[in-house]
Amino acid sequence: MAKGKAKAVELIALKCSECKRRNYTTSKNKRNIQGKLEFKKYCKFDKKHTLHKESKIK
Ligand SMILES: [Zn+2]
Repeated sequence: MAKGKAKAVELIALKCSECKRRNYTTSKNKRNIQGKLEFKKYCKFDKKHTLHKESKIK
């Protein structure tokens, strides 16, 4: 049995733009989302909300 379509959902890490730590992971549907994801999230290392940008998990 062959597998059909390639996986559309990709697991990504969210990296803090200030301390560069990967604080969060999330998933992204490549079919719906174009370009890089960016979220404002709390960074416990900076003790404030910072911009977290998409980065590869591995
Ligand atoms: Zn940080």
